[in-house]
Amino acid sequence: MTGERRETPGRRRAAIGARPPLADARGRALRDLRISVTDRCNFRCVYCMPREVFGADHAFLDRKEVLSLEEIARIAALFVEQGVRKIRLTGGEPLVRRGLETLVEKLAAIPGVEDLSLTTNGSLLTPARARALREAGLGRVTVSLDALDDAVFKRINDVNFPVSGVLRAIDAAAEAGLAPVKVNMVVKRGGNEDQIVPMAGRFRGTGHIVRYIEYMDVGNSNGWELADVVSAREIVERIDERHPLEPIGANYPGEVANRWRYRDGAGEIGVIASVSQPFCGGCTRARLSAEGRLYTCLFATSGHDLRALLRSGASDREVRSRLAGIWGRRDDRYSELRTAATRTPFAADTAAAEAPRIEMSYIGG
Ligand code: SAM
Ligand code: SF4
Ligand code: SF4
Repeated sequence: MTGERRETPGRRRAAIGARPPLADARGRALRDLRISVTDRCNFRCVYCMPREVFGADHAFLDRKEVLSLEEIARIAALFVEQGVRKIRLTGGEPLVRRGLETLVEKLAAIPGVEDLSLTTNGSLLTPARARALREAGLGRVTVSLDALDDAVFKRINDVNFPVSGVLRAIDAAAEAGLAPVKVNMVVKRGGNEDQIVPMAGRFRGTGHIVRYIEYMDVGNSNGWELADVVSAREIVERIDERHPLEPIGANYPGEVANRWRYRDGAGEIGVIASVSQPFCGGCTRARLSAEGRLYTCLFATSGHDLRALLRSGASDREVRSRLAGIWGRRDDRYSELRTAATRTPFAADTAAAEAPRIEMSYIGG
């Protein structure tokens, strides 16, 4: 890559705000970028990386196939110029990626990034790591925790990891100032629905925000069925019975979680109803896989290869124009089509629900 093909930070800074955000074919702005920094993980959650599929002989990406930290930062900066304001690091498990703190530092230095966060299973988030990430410029973390009961949690993560380890990570994050900490709980019928109320009870009054997520049909390996989904409505009803709730408005347009607060003032929860109340109309997210493929939907069947473009020596202008072309043609609304198809099973759109898809551990949620 020659110097003149890469623009200077000063020129980039001037570009931020000078251009309106890109809009897709449905008029949705490009605002969020989720970056998967690795397809590897030290957990084998049964709904995400089931051991039968992600066993010892599974072919993970080779090191040279994965984008370097510099490549990720370059693409991210070009995305920010085109409208992105929020960046989330994910995986696989992002904390297994070497040099993560260096990447955070590079991303935090991009002018225009307003929110830099990370989703983690918490197993490697020690107090020292949390402080290092904070010092590098990370704003917030989301820690995933699907149960408070050790037996239930171990059955889900399938690597015998205890609840106490994740609770320590949540404390470490809060103490390092990576707050408010959000706690993601994926709810699966017959798996952990009895943990909905205990999770609410445990985190009420702590300042941490539990986000209940409807179990989604991402990927092809988790054997998802509609009957496995516990709807947002049922989740709220169960909590409300024990700890009365009232709805509150969104923090910003296009926020994916429906917010509720405890009537007694003990804080709030979020409920992500991606199956029962799809929110494709406000979806402003692009997703970059660890090997540099750009996906315009969590349920996309294929991505756009940005790594080849970068490694062919493309200039910033060329990459920018490719991003604009991809986003401009974006027409995805998978969840809306799936939900319509499940309501009218013989609708033509059922085909969308049956096409092969990328795995959650590859694209990061
Ligand atoms: N390993 C990290 C973690 O678990 O937080 C980051 C990657 S993980 C794929 C991101 C989020 O996706 C986690 O909160 C996880 O629970 C959620 N997730 C994975 N599979 C899911 C599914 N089928 N439906 C809903 N959420 C899912
Ligand atoms: Fe790993 Fe996260 Fe998937 Fe669990 S949900 S297997 S921790 S990537
Ligand atoms: Fe966005 Fe695709 Fe999810 Fe709809 S299904 S909200 S377009 S990622």
